[in-house]
Amino acid sequence: MKKHNYSAGPSILTPEVFEKSAQAILDFNNSGLSILEISHRSKDFVAVMEEARALALDLLGLTGKGYQALFLAGGASLEFIMAPYNLMKEGGKAAYLDSGTWASAAIKEAKAFGETVIVASSKEQNYNHIPKGYTVPEDADYFHCTSNNTIFGTQMKEFPKLNIPVVCDMSSDIFSRVLDFTQFDIIYAGAQKNMGPAGTTLVVIKEEVLGKNGRVIPSMLDYAKHIKAESMYNTPPVFPVYTSLLTLQWLKNLGGVAAIEKINNEKAALLYNEIDRNPLFRGTAAVEDRSNMNVTFLLNDEAHKDTFDAMWKAANISGLPGHRSVGGYRASIYNAMPIESVQVLVDVMKALEAAV
Ligand code: PLP
Repeated sequence: MKKHNYSAGPSILTPEVFEKSAQAILDFNNSGLSILEISHRSKDFVAVMEEARALALDLLGLTGKGYQALFLAGGASLEFIMAPYNLMKEGGKAAYLDSGTWASAAIKEAKAFGETVIVASSKEQNYNHIPKGYTVPEDADYFHCTSNNTIFGTQMKEFPKLNIPVVCDMSSDIFSRVLDFTQFDIIYAGAQKNMGPAGTTLVVIKEEVLGKNGRVIPSMLDYAKHIKAESMYNTPPVFPVYTSLLTLQWLKNLGGVAAIEKINNEKAALLYNEIDRNPLFRGTAAVEDRSNMNVTFLLNDEAHKDTFDAMWKAANISGLPGHRSVGGYRASIYNAMPIESVQVLVDVMKALEAAV
């Protein structure tokens, strides 16, 4: 029986996407070939890449606005390096918001390229909130932020309005809510939460920000080369890109980002209401910064841990334990998680209250 998978990633996809991608492994488009063995230069796969790139921009409302979408390999972690390589000048500087472990990993990589200014950090409070009220230096080559902090369950609700390029790691909340995406110049997101299997990263770039930093960039790390090659500079991760396309098609048919945002808000409200209502639990993130993708919470009394763990496992739930740096529980309720699965968890929380 399929589990209610609360994993933070790799995470669940919709049943429809699992079904279609599994079929494509056996026989892609009735070609007699598996998606795993077709040439990435074949007409059928070129069409997949073109549609995936176009649909990503369409869903973000960025079509015809000077943006390009790429499906690269190397994970979001490689973008921690590619962003500074492509945007930071020799002897230049970049500004970073330190809102979590992944933001901090991005900062560590940027330091190899130049001065890295941390405009604000919530590290001292174990990243339980999004820092606010900071100033970004106007002479920085770009500002980098993380829209959703997967480990700590916090999410940026507002972004600073700046005259310098804004780079945003949206790995764990891409396509989950409506934003004015034109406020970002580079958006990147690993596929393995809201799109498809690990192995590809969506990178959305406003083309005009490239080619200005005067660096010699190795080809595989050069966004402009990937754009010129239409995201086929080398063999792309064919299966993750195809599966991501299936997810984007599903989302488009559902009504796009606005439609999924409504469902995501309902799921998040259902779970947060129970955390706030049930005297056995408490949330870990500042209420105003709560994520609608990763819901982090603790038991007020650790004595109930064994009982609770046994109960959610018996309810066919998996992937609920929190990250070791927060402890407790983390329910990742990405786009593909149905509200019925969230109700199963809420029912277990209620049943624990009744049992103890
Ligand atoms: N950024 C965020 C917000 C993440 O949640 C993760 C992974 O969970 C990463 C970056 C790293 O992604 P990858 O493993 O694709 O390099």
